[in-house]
Amino acid sequence: MSTTPAPLPDRSGPGAGAPSAGPVRERGDACPGALRLHAADDGALARIRLPGGLLTVRQAGALARIAEESGDGHLDLTSRGNVQLRGLADGCGGTVAGQLRRHGLLPSDRHDRIRNVAASPLCGVDGWTPDSGPVPGAAPADVQGWARELDELLCSDDAGTDLTELSGRFLFGLDDGRGDIVALRPDVTLIASGAGQAGVCFGTTGPGLRVAAADAPRAAVLAAAEFLAAREACGSTAWRVRELAPGQRPSIARLADRLAAAGISCTPLPGLRPPLGEPPAPGPVTGPGGVCALSVTAPLGRLTVAQWRLALRVAGEKGDRTLRVTPWRGLVVPGLPAQEAPGLLAELAGAGFVTDADSAWHRAGACAGRPGCAKSLADVRADAAACLADGQAAGAAALPVYWSGCERRCGHPGGGPWVDVLATGDGYRVAVQDGRRDTAPRTVTTAGLAGAVAAARTTT
Ligand code: SF4
Repeated sequence: MSTTPAPLPDRSGPGAGAPSAGPVRERGDACPGALRLHAADDGALARIRLPGGLLTVRQAGALARIAEESGDGHLDLTSRGNVQLRGLADGCGGTVAGQLRRHGLLPSDRHDRIRNVAASPLCGVDGWTPDSGPVPGAAPADVQGWARELDELLCSDDAGTDLTELSGRFLFGLDDGRGDIVALRPDVTLIASGAGQAGVCFGTTGPGLRVAAADAPRAAVLAAAEFLAAREACGSTAWRVRELAPGQRPSIARLADRLAAAGISCTPLPGLRPPLGEPPAPGPVTGPGGVCALSVTAPLGRLTVAQWRLALRVAGEKGDRTLRVTPWRGLVVPGLPAQEAPGLLAELAGAGFVTDADSAWHRAGACAGRPGCAKSLADVRADAAACLADGQAAGAAALPVYWSGCERRCGHPGGGPWVDVLATGDGYRVAVQDGRRDTAPRTVTTAGLAGAVAAARTTT
């Protein structure tokens, strides 16, 4: 069994490593969608895109019914704030698509897989404002409004470019200024900058352009069109901006011309360098005016229909009848009376949600593994659950940890150090990854796994 440090494969997902130019793409991406289902070993898999992670209670109820009637009774939350349904029966694709259309979850068949939009999930909830953090009385940005408008624009075929040419991995990031979405390393980033303004850039650092916040969604669409133009100009089939070599990447000057032609005023931001922020911690989130939200995460990213329905009952009966799915496999339930928040949080904790940043399950994830994925060398979810139930390495400072059934490491975290637990066939290899290399790898049997993971999570 080798202990040689190995580079991570290109993941082309949020938080992946940072190659200056990525692999040559000889085929289209294989990302599943609501219509293009992935044939897994445990049945078909559908990915339901939720721009900004936004759901009404009614839509969330529809997803629960589909999971219960056509799937395996679970809902997986993804690293982009989407929902996946697994174990779908043969031949149910048409019925599922019809249910999604009826509830506004499949607004355009053609554009389904390009609706990849992540937005700061606590925007407007905790009183954060773009320039100065939480300032009483100051107006927050409205990145949820941006997400809705951007989704409509993506589906409208109105950009003068066929945006369906975008890969299913191309990510729009809408950040309210705190830097949580910037940390996901989107392809096109909008970042609120206060006084009704926003920055737009390719990737997450400048040069960028300043536009009026009201124009930001249109600017993002035109930036995606500019990416496609740059890709075509160099004959590339890159899926993401960072896969293009530096000299081939889309030009901010040409984007400025494109905005001007569309009647959007902009000014240069030569050194745009948005902050990097943290995801919402599990627990109550106090907002202005006695209104509260609850932030919870799904254990290993998966909820039963019963857990999901509990969250939507809280949202429907006590909240503002909406839910936000976060890119950290969690839910935010906004609009709750502050005095009821502790009791509601306890109810969610009792149902198995992660509600405390000190929990060993906080920032822990796993891929599908065996038996759902034929490539997996282990039942990584069961092994992860056994380790985490042990309770070692609890604490908000513990590093994120991720179990993978094979070297593809689907859905692994990024943006900072994390513990990579990789199945080897006769045990696991445990190492701390920083995006390009790993350190202090150990190979252990399943019996020694909990201790090895706990030690790695507390590596400083
Ligand atoms: S990392 Fe490997 S085992 Fe896990 S879901 Fe991806 S392909 Fe399957």
